[in-house]
Amino acid sequence: MAKVWFVGAGPGDPELITLKAQKLIADADAILYAGSLVSQAATQWAKTDCDIADSKGMTLDEITTWLIDKAQGDACVIRLQTGDPALYGALIEMVQPLDKAGVDVGVVPGVTSAMASAAAAVETLTLPEVTQTVIYSRVEGRTPMPEGESLLELARHHCTLCLYLSITLLKKVRHALLEAGWSEDAPVLVVHKASWPGEEQIVRGTVADIQQKCRDAKINAQAMIIISPTLGARHWPELKKSKLYDAGFSHRFRKAVRS
Ligand code: SAH
Repeated sequence: MAKVWFVGAGPGDPELITLKAQKLIADADAILYAGSLVSQAATQWAKTDCDIADSKGMTLDEITTWLIDKAQGDACVIRLQTGDPALYGALIEMVQPLDKAGVDVGVVPGVTSAMASAAAAVETLTLPEVTQTVIYSRVEGRTPMPEGESLLELARHHCTLCLYLSITLLKKVRHALLEAGWSEDAPVLVVHKASWPGEEQIVRGTVADIQQKCRDAKINAQAMIIISPTLGARHWPELKKSKLYDAGFSHRFRKAVRS
């Protein structure tokens, strides 16, 4: 039976694609990739006769029609998406028409850009006694935010915030953070094209100056904003260490050493 796979292509570097995704790409009869963000390199493992198309100029309707059309016989069809398909990927909007058409569907997760951005900057998003929570969100632009999810409300948690699709809204980010009690000199990280070979840019700044720094660096798309009390922890002289590796802490695999 034909199947359409929604495959996470990861953040950009083709080496960050999963083995499962790579194998499916090598087997695929048709691949529709999101050209605006997915590097075409991600299709490098495809068969020479694989039908490959870019969805850049397509509407949702055209995308699902294409996928349904290719899903004939026992074809393996791939919708290749940036990062992980479950985050800002219009996944369910595409799955519903396929369900209606009786086409089998599968999903392969991918490395999301928030994690690639943290990796690029050698940052952790959680740290004992600093923050144990990460929020993936975005700032309200054309897409309205559901009640209780404005950046102001989310920022009040003072945990790690990873903001997708918001790089042109840094002014709003600053206002919300200040109103939620963050200080002007709280650190902010912006990573443009995280993991893209030769194109990645890391900008470090503060709530006060990150907008200007991004303007100077001409970053206005494909960027992740990370705001976190953990930023820069690599250079802190004192850390509250994780209990897992604490010599005085017993767990399933190790007995505590008494001091
Ligand atoms: N599903 C994707 C997100 C799609 S929304 C994922 O899991 O990453 C597109 C947004 O993702 C962009 O506006 C940007 O905020 C972020 N993004 C995607 N690729 C990125 C990259 N390589 N580096 C930094 N941000 C990226």
